[in-house]
Amino acid sequence: RCGQDILRDPLQNRGSAFTEEQRDQLGVRGFLPARVETLEEQARRAVAFMRTFPMPIQRYFYLDALHNTNETLFFKVVCDNIEEVMPIIYTPTVGEACQKFSHNFLQARGLFISVKEKGQIGKILDNVKQDDVEVIVVTDGQRILGLGDQGVNGMGIPVGKLALYTACAGVAPEKTLPVVIDVGTNNPAYLADPLYMGLRQERVSGAAYDELIDEFMVAARKRWPNVLIQFEDFGNANAFRLLARWKDKSLCFNDDIQGTACVALTGFYSAMRVTGGKLADQRVLFLGAGEAATGIANLIAEAIADEEGMPIEEARKRCYLFDSKGLVIAQRTDLSAHKRQFAHEAQPAESFLQAIQQLRPTAIVGVAAQQNAFNSMVIGEMSAINERPIVFALSNPTSKAECTAEMAYQFSNGRALFASGSPFDVVNYNGKTFVPRQGNNSYVFPALGRAATFVKAKTMPTGMFLAAARKLAELVSEEDLERGSLYPSLSDIRPISEAIAVAVAEYAYEKGLACGEKPQDLPAAIKASMYTPGY
Ligand code: NAP
Ligand code: MN
Repeated sequence: RCGQDILRDPLQNRGSAFTEEQRDQLGVRGFLPARVETLEEQARRAVAFMRTFPMPIQRYFYLDALHNTNETLFFKVVCDNIEEVMPIIYTPTVGEACQKFSHNFLQARGLFISVKEKGQIGKILDNVKQDDVEVIVVTDGQRILGLGDQGVNGMGIPVGKLALYTACAGVAPEKTLPVVIDVGTNNPAYLADPLYMGLRQERVSGAAYDELIDEFMVAARKRWPNVLIQFEDFGNANAFRLLARWKDKSLCFNDDIQGTACVALTGFYSAMRVTGGKLADQRVLFLGAGEAATGIANLIAEAIADEEGMPIEEARKRCYLFDSKGLVIAQRTDLSAHKRQFAHEAQPAESFLQAIQQLRPTAIVGVAAQQNAFNSMVIGEMSAINERPIVFALSNPTSKAECTAEMAYQFSNGRALFASGSPFDVVNYNGKTFVPRQGNNSYVFPALGRAATFVKAKTMPTGMFLAAARKLAELVSEEDLERGSLYPSLSDIRPISEAIAVAVAEYAYEKGLACGEKPQDLPAAIKASMYTPGY
């Protein structure tokens, strides 16, 4: 390859860090200014320049350009500044980037497969030059964060998630592949937008949709036999069905259902270190009854069933759902299968507040993308019932959060045990400093994926998610809890991800889910397998 091609390949490009010898050998001399720099020097420039942009979305565009220019440098910047950069390349800013995707489109990362290409997916995958893809994140863009149908504009999500796979858990960048399946969009604004980049048609559904996804799943596994496929931000009419169809015969998981569940369960384990008691003593009321809600409720039930040796149906009675039509109860006749499991005998409740008064939950979990639904009445009522109410506002991005951190502490007189989907700043209330942390699946999905691909697992059963949740909970310190943090600091996400990956891999070896020999020193082997940005 000629030098100019190397400079244009973000996986190979080192820019000003090409040494004098490399400049001659590779034929890049002449295309670079004279100064030879180290990665550290390059990173200092990049971070300083990023900070000159006042708006997070501008920083996103700059980092995206960096990502497309020099991946090593991009990941150096991300890894060394993870707390600062994560809210830019991930929630909340990535949501805005998705909404703007078609309007500033230059060149996109990842793969777009449209329904027009049915029958040709194998050929499209052959066009991908990477022969060793370990992780695919795929979306059809139907439920991007809490922002609804974004169609192909949703590509920002797989790109952002995979950047975290690399930054947090060291999956090598060339082993990741973001994919959008374009079956149209039902977003009227995009259908009417002449700049929208996807198919300008209503979403295809039914058999044609299922056949397309099947074709993709089969073709991807044929091209990369050990690949992990993460389903991301699918609408819930498809998400549950696709997961049920593929989870026992393919290495895949749905992050919105299972990853979220895992990190939320950790939040409960941490909260209980403050409140005392066991998981089985909790009564959890969810605002929302979709992927996140039923995913979390099911994993809580699995954990209780495991810890108490009780039937899962019995354990599920600790969780109640409240959807757009009210409390989910046995007498309702309009419930889909994922809700029915949690439809207990109870009186109907018209409002969420009324449901709290009736059920007296120890915890409320917001996963309905309803801004400010956890108002002073709701949190006040929770605080009247509980000495330390558990309040998780997990909806993303920030504009969809059920309450802010400030609201949670203010309305509970500083007693709420709070976590949120998107980041909130430190809150000072009544002379006390609270450090709220993110109940966000980013704590676990990179490590789960790292572990699953490391052991060459054939599937990802529930036990792996439980193992991850319990390990993450162990990493929460007394000092964290003291400050109101239910999770460890994201600045430690590398060692955190490493520890979770080891725990999950350990579980996989123990349960016979792994292929191949367990290394003598598993932690060292996992650590050695993790990519770190460097030339
Ligand atoms: P989903 O499957 O579409 O579910 C949304 C649920 O919200 C549905 O059950 C819907 O009710 C309910 N809902 C909508 N409006 C409501 C209202 N006014 N009152 C009560 N319930 C209402 O979506 P999802 O995948 O669960 O995601 C939901 C939110 O969680 C999103 O904002 C997403 O960003 C966030 N999330 C966060 C994380 C994290 O790591 N923190 C992970 C995944 C998702 P119906 O069933 O009646 O339509
Ligand atoms: Mn998601």
